[in-house]
Amino acid sequence: MGFPRYQLLYWCIQSGVRETVHYSETLLLRRFGSLTWTSIHPGNNSYLGIRVFRRPNAHMSDEQGARNGSLANGSAVPLVTPLCVIGSGPAGHTAAIYAARAQLRPIMFEGMLANGIAAGGQLTTTTDVENYPGFPEGISGFELMDRFRKQSQVHGTKILTETVESVDLQSRPFRIYSSQHVVLAASVIIATGAVAKRMDFPGAGSGEGGFWQRGISACAVCDGAAPIFRGKPIAVVGGGDTALEEALFLTRYASRVYVIHRRDTLRASKIMQKRAFENQKIEFLWNSIVVAAHGDTLLRRITLQSTKDDQKHELEVGGLFFAIGHVPATAFLKGQLLLDDQGYIITKPGTTQTSVDGVFAAGDVQDKRYRQAVTAAGSGCMAAMDAEHWLQEHEEEVLALERIPESRQCQTESV
Ligand code: FAD
Ligand code: NDP
Repeated sequence: MGFPRYQLLYWCIQSGVRETVHYSETLLLRRFGSLTWTSIHPGNNSYLGIRVFRRPNAHMSDEQGARNGSLANGSAVPLVTPLCVIGSGPAGHTAAIYAARAQLRPIMFEGMLANGIAAGGQLTTTTDVENYPGFPEGISGFELMDRFRKQSQVHGTKILTETVESVDLQSRPFRIYSSQHVVLAASVIIATGAVAKRMDFPGAGSGEGGFWQRGISACAVCDGAAPIFRGKPIAVVGGGDTALEEALFLTRYASRVYVIHRRDTLRASKIMQKRAFENQKIEFLWNSIVVAAHGDTLLRRITLQSTKDDQKHELEVGGLFFAIGHVPATAFLKGQLLLDDQGYIITKPGTTQTSVDGVFAAGDVQDKRYRQAVTAAGSGCMAAMDAEHWLQEHEEEVLALERIPESRQCQTESV
């Protein structure tokens, strides 16, 4: 059932509509102090189908929202863009650089300690990166990501230092919500990365008395070649493909590699098991867990505990690598697009296209195999190019977005 234009005006005034934004033929309305938006689809002489949409994870009352200066207090006039990039690691920034150079005026949510990681991603948590091409002397992970960020900005990326809390990818324009902004985007690139799971026992942390990055790491390919590990016995924790891949890689530098597994059967694929069993440098310590790490300025020993009889013993090692899995940063996407059983975004093989038309994914959030800065950057480039082609084919949607003023206060009389 439709209703005439004057009734809409009356309804707007009655319900305290504060802002209106046109998107193509659709009119978006937001009421005073409300976390909800209403979309109205016009028919010939009347407006059809009012749909109210609420931020999927909205947990604040309207009053709370207003007090916190969030969506409800008027600071959430939607920003519009042909392309929104979520995430700020090598994948996100590479996508943004390509998109900005292609005149797509990308808006990036770089995160505010999202997943406990600073904006810039996992590389900000490491010291020297020695395998990123172009830096023969190596470069600190933090500086590398600072350069990525500057390059994104130089080409015109608008960066919001906010974490995306939820998205609505069920209809276009897509809606991306942080606590302070809502972005309407014709297309989206998700590059939120993943976090290696870390173990928690005395000596495992990065604070005082901890050996994180002083012998303990979660990435053998990244750190394994460091001088502190060369010619020393090294331990890897885990029984999956990552653990065996890391163990095999570490045999190039270590005097001996112990694979410490909490059970007596491996989860890894048969081919990886065969390779590891055949390697003379690898020794399996079954039914064991690490319960403490010891050393001075660097890691020197670990304490192992049997999962069978709780007996403990010490093992001399120069390095300890956690290979107990990763957690992709996709909690905010639940129900919006296809994820695999571990939460990674599923993309169409050979592309960055997700299960939602117009939404692309790049980097570790969709890659549980390579997980390197350069592969993340490469897939960021692919995502920007895929998005650019997609936007060319959906030019009318971009043109409709162009007609939305970047911010517009509601004048109910303009409805
Ligand atoms: P990430 O780097 O994980 O970045 C994702 C970003 O998105 C993060 O900043 C995160 O905060 C943000 N984000 C997450 N959720 C949200 C949200 N909801 N809203 C907004 N933002 C969000 N690789 C190498 O090639 N060489 C190395 O030497 C190397 N060393 C490493 C050392 C360590 C200790 C670690 C952990 C990894 C290392 N890696 C290395 C791997 C490399 O860091 C990753 O493969 C790469 O960073 C992945 O890039 P990404 O862009 O996919 O995601
Ligand atoms: P997995 O989840 O497959 O394995 C994690 C391992 O860590 C398991 O053996 C698990 O033990 C162990 N573990 C988990 N938590 C703890 C803990 N708190 N303490 C001690 N041990 C723990 O993760 P992976 O990263 O190995 O692999 C993820 C996916 O990526 C898999 O699908 C894998 O096949 C794929 N992959 C493929 C590669 C390739 O094809 N070359 C390379 C790397 C990964 P338990 O077995 O007892 O649960």
